Amino acid sequence: MTQRPYNFSAGPAAMPEEVLQQAAAEMLDWHGCGMGVMEMSHRGKEFMAIAAQAEADLRELLAVPTHFRILFMQGGGLAENAIVPLNLSRGGAVDFVVTGGWSQKSAKEARKYAAPAVVASNEADGHTTLPAPATWRLSKDAQYVHVCSNETIHGVEFHELPDLKALGSQAPLVIDFSSHVASRPVDWGRVGLAFGGAQKNLGPAGVTLVVVREDLLGRALSICPSAFDYKTVADNASMYNTPPTYSIYMAGLVFQWLKRQTEGGFTGIAAMEERNIAKATLLYNFIDRSEFYVNKVAKDCRSRMNVPFFLRDESRNEAFLAGAKERGLLQLKGHKSVGGMRASLYNAMPLAGVQALVDYMRDFEKTSA
Ligand SMILES: *Cc1c(COP(=O)(O)O)cnc(C)c1O
Repeated sequence: MTQRPYNFSAGPAAMPEEVLQQAAAEMLDWHGCGMGVMEMSHRGKEFMAIAAQAEADLRELLAVPTHFRILFMQGGGLAENAIVPLNLSRGGAVDFVVTGGWSQKSAKEARKYAAPAVVASNEADGHTTLPAPATWRLSKDAQYVHVCSNETIHGVEFHELPDLKALGSQAPLVIDFSSHVASRPVDWGRVGLAFGGAQKNLGPAGVTLVVVREDLLGRALSICPSAFDYKTVADNASMYNTPPTYSIYMAGLVFQWLKRQTEGGFTGIAAMEERNIAKATLLYNFIDRSEFYVNKVAKDCRSRMNVPFFLRDESRNEAFLAGAKERGLLQLKGHKSVGGMRASLYNAMPLAGVQALVDYMRDFEKTSA
């Protein structure tokens, strides 16, 4: 088969080709049962097996401890901006660290249900740094502290999760890990709840992953919709209402693909981290050595997944994108709030794709001289 174009979309994003092939082969008849997956009852033995396998594989891949529950929900990351305060805030104080567009949105939505405080922000420097945890002005009575651990739009990533206990806080840490889940291991000892939409790094849009510490279940406000009450979802093994069955199946195929990956003697998520470091290093090093391109994010918090960059001569933007498309390099246009370009290097992007991008960027610079 010919090489498909390399797709740098921020989300919904490229899927591993092997996964698409397998899904295509199983589309009309899953494992000889005479039905495609999207035609199955979510309570039948076939789909129950698919969902159980997906959950077990994810637990193994991300090394989720047994005192955390894995929930497959709907509504995406944006709905979680409401669902988290509905479940965890008790209507009281909640702390937000604002590091880019997504955490900003989360803080704003929480106002409907709780009393959010912005306890640290990098807004003054255009969301290009991370405020050191020691400088966060954490509230004494916060029900939780929210952090977006990878800012998809601004390209800022926490390479180490904050240790709230070391900062004197007993509040659980909530992370929005939508855009870097499964790209690196998670330090669960520092986390109370993690959520993420699937469409960046886990599968197709439609399913939202929530990993929540068991002791945080059962705190929902009485106005919380039952289908969004974590305890109800957990008690019903994510089948309180019809789950997004096909998206769960596809995510399950991605989990199996992840388990097969090897890199530098590692497998699974550790392999992905090795590969993701290599991919990001290749692109950032090229940009930093160039006079033609620039990335404005501080080096210690640059995202491995989302690389926003600019042409110093922005009048060349359209030509850059058109030339990229001709070379089979798709969806490089930056987010509208930032401008410029953005290359998203999720797990499904191979190193060869990043090399092809760097080669194109070098050639484009030459022809623009
Ligand atoms: C994409 C994204 C979201 C929004 O997800 P939806 O599924 O569109 O609701 C939230 N947070 C982060 C960090 C994201 O990258």
